[in-house]
Amino acid sequence: MKIQLIGTGTIPDLTNSASVLINNHILFDIPNGNLKAMIRQNIDILKIDTLIISHTHADHCFDAPFLLWYKENYKKEGESLSTKIITDKITQNTVENLIDLSHFNSARKAKKQFIDAEKVNNIERICDDLQILNEPIEHEHQTIKYANGYIIKDKNISIGLTGDSIFCQGVKNIASKVNYLISDMTLEIGDKSHMGINNILELLKEYPKLKIIPIHMHDKTREKAKKLDIDNLMILQDGDILEL
Ligand SMILES: [Zn+2]
Repeated sequence: MKIQLIGTGTIPDLTNSASVLINNHILFDIPNGNLKAMIRQNIDILKIDTLIISHTHADHCFDAPFLLWYKENYKKEGESLSTKIITDKITQNTVENLIDLSHFNSARKAKKQFIDAEKVNNIERICDDLQILNEPIEHEHQTIKYANGYIIKDKNISIGLTGDSIFCQGVKNIASKVNYLISDMTLEIGDKSHMGINNILELLKEYPKLKIIPIHMHDKTREKAKKLDIDNLMILQDGDILEL
């Protein structure tokens, strides 16, 4: 499985906002600025056929119209490209509104198919090469009702993606089933919205074979985590590629 970290950071920091490309065609989260970040990383945008959006916060879905715009404008003549968008109903509504507000005809025209996150586990094949499973997690209770983590696996490897999450049972469920966990680690100490280094250390203690790749990190959190120098905590940079 090929993993490319498009963004490892969070809103006010120097790095790109969190987003991960899997096997060159499945994009997990599409924050503001994501399309340009992918262009800078020489990614073939036309190959992206599946978009998984963890939740409706702007730094996870606001570039969706630009991806659709790009595919519609740069596809070969006569080619029909469709994008599967796996997300919850609230985020679907946000994305549909964004497309409308963009006033780009090509974004409006681009072929897309929304797949309800709650139904993903009952669909045998969304992609030919990988299985995608949903695991609900908890994020900001007051503003966001729905947030979803995911497990993506092939014959040999399984990776978990928490999206933005507090340290909750959903995260532990994902961690117990995967080889690699690409996890929210925004903070030094986790709070009521995001996980921190302290939560990640707890997970590593509970699942000693697990390798954790943190994303959605504040710059300060990243620096602190690097200094800890823990084998199974892989502090990666924007653009890094892993062949697992
Ligand atoms: Zn969020």
